[in-house]
Amino acid sequence: MEISSFEQFELNRQLLNAIADLGYTEPTPIQQKTIPISLGNHDVLGIAQTGTGKTAAYLLPLLMKIKYAQGKNPRALILAPTRELAMQIAEAVQQIGKYTDLRHVALFGGLGPKAQIAQLETGVDLIIATPGRLLDLYRLGHIVLKEIRTLILDEADKMMDMGFMPQIRAILEVIPTKRQNMLFSATFGGRVERLSGEFLEAPVRVEVTPQASTADMVEQVIYDVPNFRTKINLLEYLVTRDDFKRGIVFARSKGTADNIYRFLARKVVDPEQVRVIHANKGQNTRINSMDAFKEGNVQILVATDVAARGIDVADVSHVINFDVPLIYEDYVHRIGRTGRANHTGEAITFVTKAEDYHVQKIERIIRMTVPRQSLPRAVEVAETPFDEEQSMLREIDEQRRKDDPTFAGAFHEKKEKNQYPTKGKPQMGVTPIKRTAQPKTAAKSTGTRPAGSRPKAGRPGGAKAGGGKRTGTRGGRR
Ligand code: AMP
Repeated sequence: MEISSFEQFELNRQLLNAIADLGYTEPTPIQQKTIPISLGNHDVLGIAQTGTGKTAAYLLPLLMKIKYAQGKNPRALILAPTRELAMQIAEAVQQIGKYTDLRHVALFGGLGPKAQIAQLETGVDLIIATPGRLLDLYRLGHIVLKEIRTLILDEADKMMDMGFMPQIRAILEVIPTKRQNMLFSATFGGRVERLSGEFLEAPVRVEVTPQASTADMVEQVIYDVPNFRTKINLLEYLVTRDDFKRGIVFARSKGTADNIYRFLARKVVDPEQVRVIHANKGQNTRINSMDAFKEGNVQILVATDVAARGIDVADVSHVINFDVPLIYEDYVHRIGRTGRANHTGEAITFVTKAEDYHVQKIERIIRMTVPRQSLPRAVEVAETPFDEEQSMLREIDEQRRKDDPTFAGAFHEKKEKNQYPTKGKPQMGVTPIKRTAQPKTAAKSTGTRPAGSRPKAGRPGGAKAGGGKRTGTRGGRR
């Protein structure tokens, strides 16, 4: 049967009205395939990326099944690898369940558990959680899991990548075996296949080609940039270009975010057109800035990852990663801020030689090599200050040591031999990176010159996805 409207599913009026409010007119392919199977109470193995509408594909039948508030203990559990995803799912539950009286709570780390515990105390029908925090609260006796009848694992491949298997197994041991399961993953193979074999019962497999996935809608580009100052110059160049309509600039730290904000507000754009949000800004200031940005009254939002969680703004033309995120999944979340709702967007990442290591890890997670571009001619390449150079070399040493604990450290070796290059001298080859075919040209920061003349950075040939190696992300992150 061709399903062209939500009315064709056996969903209740509350859900259909909420969908209408959200402006969904027809189900996406993954929704067309998943909803009837799930309503039939079968286990589902869904292969679908973010952007395909997978969240509503499992939430609609789930909310239909748990229907209304009942008792104190949760009857459904959704597991997600990151707090960002957990928050996004919770937001979708809020929207789709708005005409029901269903109670849900999102449990994730990074915040004190007090409010989460208080919410559990009042009774919930549905829990959305990262595995670690769920187990912590369960072991402390705050959650009763014996009434769980539906378990959903979202972004299962990412959960495997992040080393959550032991926690998932522990959860499976404490929830009832008689239940419906749904597993969603962007990819299928290896560990996800094993996981699905372990906990799905005769699942129906549904799959969609990732047509309008975030990654496809977003044009990703990397610029190799030698230092902070040049990053600032490149940022100025990009945000003053005509095609820059509205963008978010991500920075790793609060300090950098503040510096970028100050620079933009003083020198580049009308101060009214730029805002900064990070954890030191009060909640109200953050909400005001976010609203101003959403409403289109502010052109540039400078943000740290923590502060930017859950930003959902359509029509962002650019996401600029001023720094490479150290929590690699944040890259995906960052670029997911553009290219939403069928708009194409551009995600630009600035990478110093010390950050290249992290880019390689990210490329494994996103399973693609992000194309690199030479710095535009108009961007002034600044000299790398001595301290900044030292700090980058130290970071590169630490990265090498992480991959090879026996590595003694080129930085210290050279230091002892007093061979350290003096200020402004090129640093090539001081700490050659094993996996890089060519040394980074970014090290050639000898004064100001037109950047267009610089050679393109050579891409390493092999460090691609699917190599089967651990990605090095933090297993215990919640
Ligand atoms: P997801 O893949 O679940 O992250 O969803 C991606 C985006 O698509 C979200 O912003 C949803 O609100 C939106 N979306 C989900 N289902 C539909 C639909 N049937 N029609 C239009 N937009 C949708």
